[in-house]
Amino acid sequence: MKTIGLIGGMSWESTANYYQIINREVKARLGGLHSGKVCLYSVDFAEIETLQHQGRWDDSATILAQAAKSVEEGGADFILICTNTMHKVADQIQLAVNVPLVHIADATAEKLVADGVKRVGLLGTRFTMEQDFYKLRLIDKFGIDVVVPSAGDQTIVHEVIYNELCKGEVRDDSRQRYLTIIDKLVDQGIEAVILGCTEIAMLVEPKHTNVTLYDTTEIHAKAAVHKALRDN
Ligand code: GLU
Repeated sequence: MKTIGLIGGMSWESTANYYQIINREVKARLGGLHSGKVCLYSVDFAEIETLQHQGRWDDSATILAQAAKSVEEGGADFILICTNTMHKVADQIQLAVNVPLVHIADATAEKLVADGVKRVGLLGTRFTMEQDFYKLRLIDKFGIDVVVPSAGDQTIVHEVIYNELCKGEVRDDSRQRYLTIIDKLVDQGIEAVILGCTEIAMLVEPKHTNVTLYDTTEIHAKAAVHKALRDN
């Protein structure tokens, strides 16, 4: 089994889910006492969040590149950045190491393509919904049409992520607001929704909606296990 490198802590709430999904998946595939080989570097999210909101992406990339080097030195055979948003600096992080990154948007898009989904809604931080680094990858590399919420709804989605979910707070009223936003995306002809922020699955689960959800945390973590076992 290969060793999975995780750059986590963004937030630790979702990194804990990565760790759990990876170990459960390895156990499901190999049985017995098997568990994942994982090397985790968990950052202080307050530092990263401050840099994000100041637009200091290069400084955040420097911190995450250092984290990537640490997990590489710790034996990681490949690396996951455990957040959609910080894939904005994925290229800078990749340049710092010799092992490959497993890109969260690629893992998600491959599943969408396999399932024949052509038009998808995207929920995530404002950075992920508004900027091109994530959407354009889905559009240009995979030919998937991406619909994002209105500017006002993006603010709601963004604030719930940072003010609640990243602090481990899961509120019924926020779930209702997300479900209303998902309904508006359905009105625009989407076939499914990408939970393009690694905390959203804590709030919106398949049991809450008839719309098919693509949980990037689960998809990314399972792609890592697949690679760790396949590349053996
Ligand atoms: N975990 C979130 C994501 O997947 C947001 C936290 C962050 O800004 O990294 O985008």
